[in-house]
Amino acid sequence: MAKAVVIGSGIGGIAAAIRLAVKGYAVTVLEANASFGGKMTQFTLPGGYRFDAGPSLFTLPQLVDDLFTLAGRAPQAYFRYQRLPIVTQYFWPDGTRLTAHASADAFAREVEAKLGIPADQLHRHLQKVARLYHATANTFLHKSLHKLDTYLSPDVLKTLPALPELGLTTTMHAANAKAFSDPRLIQLLDRYATYNGSDPYQAPGTLNLIPHLEFNIGAFYPEGGIYAIAESLVKLAEELGVEFRYNETVQEIMVLGTRATGVRTGQGTYSAEVVVSNMDVVPTYRKLLPNQPAPERTLQQPRSSSALIYYWGISRTFPELDLHNIFFSQNYQQEFEHIFQKGSVAEDPTVYVNITSKLTPQDAPTGHENWFVMVNVPHNAGQNWDELIRQTRQSVLRKVSHSLGTDIASLITVEKIWDPRGIEADTSSFAGALYGSSSNNRMAAFLRHPNFTSKLKGLYFVGGSVHPGGGIPLCLLSAKIAADLVPPVAAPAQT
Ligand code: FAD
Repeated sequence: MAKAVVIGSGIGGIAAAIRLAVKGYAVTVLEANASFGGKMTQFTLPGGYRFDAGPSLFTLPQLVDDLFTLAGRAPQAYFRYQRLPIVTQYFWPDGTRLTAHASADAFAREVEAKLGIPADQLHRHLQKVARLYHATANTFLHKSLHKLDTYLSPDVLKTLPALPELGLTTTMHAANAKAFSDPRLIQLLDRYATYNGSDPYQAPGTLNLIPHLEFNIGAFYPEGGIYAIAESLVKLAEELGVEFRYNETVQEIMVLGTRATGVRTGQGTYSAEVVVSNMDVVPTYRKLLPNQPAPERTLQQPRSSSALIYYWGISRTFPELDLHNIFFSQNYQQEFEHIFQKGSVAEDPTVYVNITSKLTPQDAPTGHENWFVMVNVPHNAGQNWDELIRQTRQSVLRKVSHSLGTDIASLITVEKIWDPRGIEADTSSFAGALYGSSSNNRMAAFLRHPNFTSKLKGLYFVGGSVHPGGGIPLCLLSAKIAADLVPPVAAPAQT
């Protein structure tokens, strides 16, 4: 039986393993950690708290369903989710509070009531974003940008007329500031740059298509939390015969001539016709392929932002908060200058608070909440993180306490911290960047590493550091693109 080895069990690696198993390969997943998930892992803290460690916002759930359907299973038998009626609660320093309803109509009405922007204006904006998304997603997200077939496909005929409106020659912020006058709405729309670790003051206007996912398609919550995505997919993979081997770090991708022939770990060698790396592409080349020429221009692209997360057990509940909550900074531009130019953290950063116990009550004891409190920070470049963690903790407590009119510090019963150093150490993400390279220039999409390499046959790449990008949906798409490029298993010769 033809063999495939997958290096890493992040969401991209798990999805690739499922797709290759369905294709007829005998798949082994080698994972350095003691369990699966990579950034999509979970933490528990004393006192009965559970946290999704990394991703918290879930869009395009049908990409998860597709894997069950592909394997001939009913998705609902493994994995259930609900569409959120409210996507996010927003808080500004001037006291403005705004509820981002999932329904585009309700959201536009709320924006009119709270920010004075005519509902029609936002509505037309979201409709335009939807039109552009549909004209471009198949070309830019669902296919390799590095294969001629993509450009010969009929989808390109839909994409070409949309190009002038995509905002390739302007920044996200400039496009939003042109479309709207209220600085709070501009800030809200600029924030979507952070969904792939970028800076709205540098990233191209194309990223303004991201809100389409939340407002026109929806934000979702899996039953049991985000970790349930990884859990249910690993269950499916195991049923399909995929073998997961934990605590087994791949040290080398074996090469013969121009072909990858398998991998070597501390425990032994695994020969395979297909090798898929779900490890960040930078260490894949630097550590696993040290003798192969590396695509330097690609590997040297600036990194995306990272995150500093405080996981807090909180000894009371806050009815004014929801699953997703944002406490905006006063000066957004300065915040991004700190992240991308100064390699530091602003004194007044935007704070994101995710509380899964709102929807999964067993994630915290009765009368308590589990707060995942995140600040966007630069990738790890050797900063004095201990000092930044201390300062940022104070800023966060000051800001959130002021907005909610309650002293939050006195409510913290238990705490864990994950910073860029820890993210790098725990997931091998180069410099702790959450999304591989940033999308801060208009060529970024084309400069991401492809899902294959023309230099080594049999080697494929999936996950957030390669095409089409980071975040759960794009990692799932990377697995689809890579698996579609893998040749079918040859039928046994007839005798
Ligand atoms: P990773 O999660 O990077 O996992 C790679 C795996 O490979 C790891 O398990 C690692 O141990 C293993 N590995 C590496 N090297 C080796 C080796 N040599 N041998 C064996 N195993 C190896 N996305 C969203 O969609 N929504 C969000 O709200 C969101 N928020 C985020 C918040 C945080 C704090 C973080 C950290 C991420 C967030 N993301 C979010 C991004 C999302 O989590 C990632 O894009 C995605 O999970 C990355 O998956 P991946 O397939 O690239 O693999």
